[in-house]
Amino acid sequence: MFKINILKRITTRFRTYLKLISLIGIACALILAAIFLVYKPIYSVTLNGEFVGYIEDKTGLQKKINEYIKYGTDNNVAFVELEELPEYHFCLHKKDVETSDEEIFNMIKEKGTTYYRYYAVLLATEPKAYVPTYEDAEQIVEGLKNKGSANQEKLTYVEVHDTELKDFTTVDTAISDLYEKPVEKVVKKVTTAKVYTSQKISNEKKELGISFAKPISGTITSRFATKSRVRSGIHTGLDIAAPKGTPIKAAAGGTVTHAGWKGSLGNLVIVSHGNGIQTYYGHCSEICVSVGDKVSQGDIVAKVGSTGNSTGNHLHLEIRLNGVALNPQNYLY
Ligand SMILES: [Zn+2]
Repeated sequence: MFKINILKRITTRFRTYLKLISLIGIACALILAAIFLVYKPIYSVTLNGEFVGYIEDKTGLQKKINEYIKYGTDNNVAFVELEELPEYHFCLHKKDVETSDEEIFNMIKEKGTTYYRYYAVLLATEPKAYVPTYEDAEQIVEGLKNKGSANQEKLTYVEVHDTELKDFTTVDTAISDLYEKPVEKVVKKVTTAKVYTSQKISNEKKELGISFAKPISGTITSRFATKSRVRSGIHTGLDIAAPKGTPIKAAAGGTVTHAGWKGSLGNLVIVSHGNGIQTYYGHCSEICVSVGDKVSQGDIVAKVGSTGNSTGNHLHLEIRLNGVALNPQNYLY
């Protein structure tokens, strides 16, 4: 009897608790329902610490912002720099609150700086053309190289990041604008003449139509057409002794047709005066002209020396007409 009573009392209490818990649960649900009837969960957004509005779709807005930073809204955007990114704060707000996702996005966009990416074709360091793509820039530089443009060595291109977009040119326009006709290399016409060393001589005073001037002043040590122990053959010129380094002047105007070593004559300069007339300056210590140089009468062509088959400093002077050695003393000294 006693045991049954206890059991009854426990059961009754349990039921009461159960009812109470259910009631509390229902009450809570009702309160929550009432809250959500009036309020909704949203995000308040701050930009640089300042409240700018409410949004519902935080993920959506952030995705839009990320895409904007990456691609911007124009062509040729390298990236967009934003001064500040929004901060989101979760909150409950009355349902009639106005959300402004689009406005907030626009506000963020306004504070963004767009950096464009494009390519500049440079001549030396100066930009000459702007193109939207790397391929265009390469085509311009390659195109000008293929055409042999004179400025091809100075052409390059660079990638540019700038807040302003330039006026782009097409590949063809840039190539025709930048093309520079290659300068024809001025090759100095070098005329070398045969160096006559033949023993053909003539003592006859031929009218050459040229008046010669003395290349140096000095003592005549060996005359034309003489024979000597030091020479194998006949003397085809006139020897005038002078100190080493004495300047030798061209006997008449003409073109240098030889300037270098020539066997027994050592350092030899030959000046051709036209009509087959040449003057030879042998045994020089120094040569002052090059083949092809035009010289006037009196110009220094070499310096006295004793190079080649020579026993002392002197000038070996020859005058030749079509290879035949003439007696210089018919004209000089
Ligand atoms: Zn001589």
